[in-house]
Amino acid sequence: MLTQLTLALSKGRIFEETLPLLEAAGIRVTEDPEKSRKLILATNDPAIRVIIVRASDVPTYVQYGAADLGVAGKDVLHEHGGEGLYQPVDLDIAKCRMSVAVSVGFDYANAVRQGARLRVATKYTETARQHFASKGVHVDLIKLYGSMELAPLVGLSDAIVDLVSTGSTLRANNLIEVEHIMDISSRLVVNQAALKMKRERLQPIVEAFERASKK
Ligand code: ATP
Ligand code: MG
Repeated sequence: MLTQLTLALSKGRIFEETLPLLEAAGIRVTEDPEKSRKLILATNDPAIRVIIVRASDVPTYVQYGAADLGVAGKDVLHEHGGEGLYQPVDLDIAKCRMSVAVSVGFDYANAVRQGARLRVATKYTETARQHFASKGVHVDLIKLYGSMELAPLVGLSDAIVDLVSTGSTLRANNLIEVEHIMDISSRLVVNQAALKMKRERLQPIVEAFERASKK
């Protein structure tokens, strides 16, 4: 009997940037998630299937073993905490950074110096909490699910913690980056129990991803 493997990916950049790595492991996804409504996609290998989940849900599917492996951003993994996951390979894809940004007219350095309580809007509340705690900055965190750039413009918050790549979204909304929290890229994540039970199947895939991501 063939050991079945399930790989969790999110639509969009992670799916697209993972395709060449899968190719290097001899795996081709035979359906396009942008065109199909299916959430379970077949591959050329009858023993490997791909499931399409929200980017922030990838660690959860892998943690509980509903997927054996997956690809998730460091931002998402940091929020999740990484429990039950091996993170054997930094794939060097979907690269960006996590930053603190404020409105152009807001004196962030001075607010911090004065010890003022900052209102910070973000999707990444856990990462933001740790970041500001490590600097001894007092913050009230406001949880958002998207369009963080809007929050300082309408007075919901003083600052945001968000992902930045080119900075054009910040510029378009009169925001500036004032602190770099961490560099972000996506990692291969593997269920810890699966790595032991399905080692023979998983190891070659992990190695192929490792080789392909170094190119
Ligand atoms: P959802 O659309 O479900 O809310 P999402 O917006 O986080 O999720 P994507 O935009 O596909 O989904 O982002 C997936 C991952 O890609 C993020 O977790 C992050 O690691 C990385 N990423 C996000 N934005 C960028 C960007 N502008 N450039 C490069 N990588 C990015
Ligand atoms: Mg996005």
